[in-house]
Amino acid sequence: MSGPDAVSLTRSLLAFDTINPPGREADCARHAGAMLEQWGFRVEYHEYEPGRTSVVARIGGTEGKAPLCLTGHIDTVALGARPWSKDPFSGETEGDRLFGRGTSDMKAGVAALLVAARTFSKKLDGTPGLVIVLTAAEEGGCIGSQHLARTQLLGKAGAMVVGEPTSNYPYVGHKGSVKFHASFKGVSAHGSMPQLGDNAIYKAARAVSALEAFDFGAAPHPVMGSPTMNVGTMTGGSGVNMVPDTASIGVDIRTVPGMDHGKLLERLQETLGREAQMEVFSNLLPVWTPPQQEWIERVFDICKQHLGTRPEARTATYMTDAANLLKVYTGAPTIVLGPGEPQMAHQTDEWCSMERIRQAVSMYEAIIKDWCRP
Ligand SMILES: [Zn+2]
Repeated sequence: MSGPDAVSLTRSLLAFDTINPPGREADCARHAGAMLEQWGFRVEYHEYEPGRTSVVARIGGTEGKAPLCLTGHIDTVALGARPWSKDPFSGETEGDRLFGRGTSDMKAGVAALLVAARTFSKKLDGTPGLVIVLTAAEEGGCIGSQHLARTQLLGKAGAMVVGEPTSNYPYVGHKGSVKFHASFKGVSAHGSMPQLGDNAIYKAARAVSALEAFDFGAAPHPVMGSPTMNVGTMTGGSGVNMVPDTASIGVDIRTVPGMDHGKLLERLQETLGREAQMEVFSNLLPVWTPPQQEWIERVFDICKQHLGTRPEARTATYMTDAANLLKVYTGAPTIVLGPGEPQMAHQTDEWCSMERIRQAVSMYEAIIKDWCRP
């Protein structure tokens, strides 16, 4: 199958403004879906809200072995406050660099996955085949994949490649996350008569101190290290002359494999006090495949041919949609591997190396070929 190369495809994906919020992934999703259909894929769309469109596309498939999943998100973050020196949507280049919002994170990754899939599109009948999952609303909470995981559209997958930015270095997972707000209630009174009230900010402050001393009781993971906690927000009160009757904190916890999120949440509730109202808005398990796993070993061999040295086990610092997709693709070994530069994600004048985009296509092709061997 012929068609655009991965660099020009990245450019055409960049032209769609999918800045999230508001997202508006629909046109970009339909554009990718139409191409996939042309290449012979069976394409389905899922909108969890009008305009918030994800794509699931399949090709090939056998009874014996589940397909390989290739996945990436099509939304991007905002341009930020600092002015750009390059146009964020037109795909300007300078030397090897392709500029634009979402080049590294992660339209180049999506383009490379698509082009590699196209290479094999006519050769996958009677093989395990591919399932391509392009998600909406990954930025700010993996909402698209969360909804997708509740549908029947994902089907099965035997292994997963997530094209998030890694400079083409394969990562074997990332931490999980638990994010929540906790609110505290009090009784308001005049600021000159605090004894008549019940101060909610004092309760929140005591809870924050208790959280600072919180012991996860989890052994450090050999690759990911220890779990972390950050109290990121604290709000409360409505005037300096009032006893505050509400206060709330926002907490971000990053977990490592082996931790039980249910038990963790129970212990957090105990630490905060029974009165605290916890509202958990993100609860995603870590993603981790042991580097000795047989498919990971083969992916590392493939990467070695392209990177020069055999990769060692490393994990990403960020979250990915894999945490949601693994709710359906239970136990599928997962690799995060993409052409974007991780340190370029969310930056002003974001760019991606065009050489890396082409290299990613070759690496993905080799991974597909290996999975779909007849
Ligand atoms: Zn991303």
